[in-house]
Amino acid sequence: MPNYHIWTIGCQMNHAESERLGSLFEHLGYQATDTVEYADVVVLNSCVVRQSAENRVVNKIKVLRDFAREHPDITLAVTGCLVNSDATKLKRSFPHVDYFFKAGDYPPWLEKPSAVSSLPQSPSPATYVPIIQGCNNFCAYCIVPHRRGREISRTLPEIVCEVRELVKRGSKEITLLGQNVDSYGHDLPDEADLADLLKELNTIDGLARIRFLTNHPKDMSDKLIATIATLDKVCEQVSLPVQSGSDNILKMMKRGYNTAQYRQLVKKIRDTIPEVALSTDIIVGFPSETDSQFQETVQLLSELRFDTVHVAVYSPRPGTTASRELEDDIPPAVKKERLNTIEQLQGKIAAKINEHLLGETVEILVESRVKGKWQGRTRTGKLVFFSDNREYTGKLVKIHIEKTSPWSLQGTVNTAK
Ligand code: SAM
Ligand code: SF4
Repeated sequence: MPNYHIWTIGCQMNHAESERLGSLFEHLGYQATDTVEYADVVVLNSCVVRQSAENRVVNKIKVLRDFAREHPDITLAVTGCLVNSDATKLKRSFPHVDYFFKAGDYPPWLEKPSAVSSLPQSPSPATYVPIIQGCNNFCAYCIVPHRRGREISRTLPEIVCEVRELVKRGSKEITLLGQNVDSYGHDLPDEADLADLLKELNTIDGLARIRFLTNHPKDMSDKLIATIATLDKVCEQVSLPVQSGSDNILKMMKRGYNTAQYRQLVKKIRDTIPEVALSTDIIVGFPSETDSQFQETVQLLSELRFDTVHVAVYSPRPGTTASRELEDDIPPAVKKERLNTIEQLQGKIAAKINEHLLGETVEILVESRVKGKWQGRTRTGKLVFFSDNREYTGKLVKIHIEKTSPWSLQGTVNTAK
């Protein structure tokens, strides 16, 4: 039996695609191996959203060059955001790589015999389902639309059919994925939108929870907010990347909203879904960001108090308008300091938010057991650990919270009825 090895970095979308690629290999008679040494086929699923990620990918490809020399029979393939529409340049730089293919655009030897053949046989209780590829927004700093192309939504019946199959195979929770998931359906002829899709999925027996990410604030409609509030399976968790607390920077980023509109949106979401946990993304050190503009971001985060903040330092990406038109003029030390400031601030905010759960009982879906501890998430996406000798995979369990930190909670099974 031939062996395959998939190496993945980047966002949930990449991880979901790698999982599907793995299922496809298995369907074709391959077996997974953890080590490149035993593999007949190696696929690198790449991320280039920041320079540091691209460096890791390029290093990995270079390491494999020596390996391919010693093992001429091995097949090397690269997919993900390193690959653009024209792979000629990549082929020239890395002639030892046999195939470059865009996400989901499999080479002929990997063509899927049927739609469900790329679904895992025994999916994790919490499974990712990509529903829209690409992005139409062209934020000034972002390489994603240049690499992943324009938005293409999968049809509603296709997604519903796939989720039914996943639930039949053991999934209890699904997370719908897209770079811009709340613009789902805009390109479909019948214009079904994310709210319509959530309504359909909510009727599937055996499915306990539905999540979705990542949202663009400008596409978060009133209809979608109301739908999240009314559907019992849709979790109280919304990702809403703001990127900066300064209107001038938001304008330069070409985000399409200002901070007043964003604050208004957060208020509307919190008024409609009182239990909601909100997460956001921030970029620090965007070209020309002054100390006072950075302080506006600090102010916005202190005021809105998100459950989770993903913070990154600005990294110029060749091909984007920001890298063409704006000088990357914030010194690395300042960028780092701003990143630390936000991480420390968010650590304190998240610690306080999570402290409120001390002594409470929360329901979690148990996903796996790692180093002897069961782990799962609340509907609001909080990571919870507990120890117990019984089997819990895929079960909804009530946990009495006994310890909290900014990043996770710990507790014991609550046996009270
Ligand atoms: N579509 C989502 C949105 O509207 O923000 C996020 C998807 S993006 C691929 C994931 C995150 O990567 C962004 O939220 C942003 O914070 C970060 N990112 C993208 N380009 C970046 C860059 N050039 N430098 C630093 N961070 C970047
Ligand atoms: Fe990138 Fe997100 Fe902006 Fe699209 S909306 S360009 S994925 S940051």
